[in-house]
Amino acid sequence: MIRDGFDVINLSVGEPDIATPAAAVKEAIAAINEGFTKYTEAAGIEPLRKMVADRARTVLGLHYHPSQVVVSNGGKHSLFNIFMTLLDPGDEVIIPAPYWVSYPEQVKLAGGLPVIYDAREEDNFGIDEARLRSLLTSRTKAILVNSPSNPTGAVYSRQHLATVARIAQEHDLYVISDEIYDGLNFSRDGHVSIAQYDQDAFERTIIVNGWSKTYGMTGWRLGYTLSSPALANAMKEFQGHVTSNVCSIAQRAAIGALSAAVDADAKSRFIRRRDFMLNGLRNIKGVRCGTPDGAFYVFPNLQGWINARYGNEVIDSVEVACEILLRDFHVSIVPGRGFGAPNNARLSYAIAEDRLHEAIRRIQAFVDKLTFS
Ligand code: PLP
Repeated sequence: MIRDGFDVINLSVGEPDIATPAAAVKEAIAAINEGFTKYTEAAGIEPLRKMVADRARTVLGLHYHPSQVVVSNGGKHSLFNIFMTLLDPGDEVIIPAPYWVSYPEQVKLAGGLPVIYDAREEDNFGIDEARLRSLLTSRTKAILVNSPSNPTGAVYSRQHLATVARIAQEHDLYVISDEIYDGLNFSRDGHVSIAQYDQDAFERTIIVNGWSKTYGMTGWRLGYTLSSPALANAMKEFQGHVTSNVCSIAQRAAIGALSAAVDADAKSRFIRRRDFMLNGLRNIKGVRCGTPDGAFYVFPNLQGWINARYGNEVIDSVEVACEILLRDFHVSIVPGRGFGAPNNARLSYAIAEDRLHEAIRRIQAFVDKLTFS
């Protein structure tokens, strides 16, 4: 539609409007000019792995040796390495819903079975111990946590992380902790990793992180894992047979990004936009929305629109509402079904504020045209 000249407001973006840090660009150009363009170690060059380990020490107070770092082509690739390395056919991975769309698909690709834990909106998408325990079987291999979360933006409390850590210890499970939005955690405590809970949690957790969200470097394809030495070695071997190292130039860019100060304004900019979106959405009929503490998404419940009429059309699902919003009001939002939450939709606020204002105006205009029974 944009190519055809429509003024579409795209609230479906999964990347922040943060530019690649200048230091990263400079390092990448230097790498090219120096001819740093050959194979490297499969898990990434030593100075980069050392800087990643240093960041974990500074940000989380956790001590990893550089050999416990595996740098991959994005957080997505890191996750795939984990599932391929950990899972035997039929092994189960508990995934809280709403979930990032690739988790269940990757578990299946690796021969495993995704087991969905339905997090409740009224619990702010947190963990209910009894319901989580009820999903455990003899085939459970791992529990995945993603905080701050895509798509909900929810952040787990220390208490919820402690619950997962205790269950993992009792049942000898791995914990896969996707912390790719750690730089966009607005909660009072700041970012907390489950690996910080105790020594046992540290040893059984595989942290996934990368440069895509915190540094706005989605196109460079840079992610990493922090894990036990044995698992890191297995993932390095696996990656060595599949993709080998991440692009040498991108690795140098990653070093540049880690050596520069993070954009201090980004967080306050995102908090301002989140609050604007929440305020705007909560004033629209049929919309219910909790307050997310991180990432750059709001995940409203749109059940209140179901069965309303729009001219001759009946809004019988959130997908239909999303389609009409795009077709007639030129606002693109993502229906929640793909995230395991069919009554919700994901709206990204990683775009300029004047566009967010216009988006809210258009969503209001759509709802003004609905007839509620
Ligand atoms: N994990 C989550 C929760 C994400 O939202 C994303 C990207 O959208 C990723 C992992 C993958 O990030 P990358 O672009 O680094 O592969």
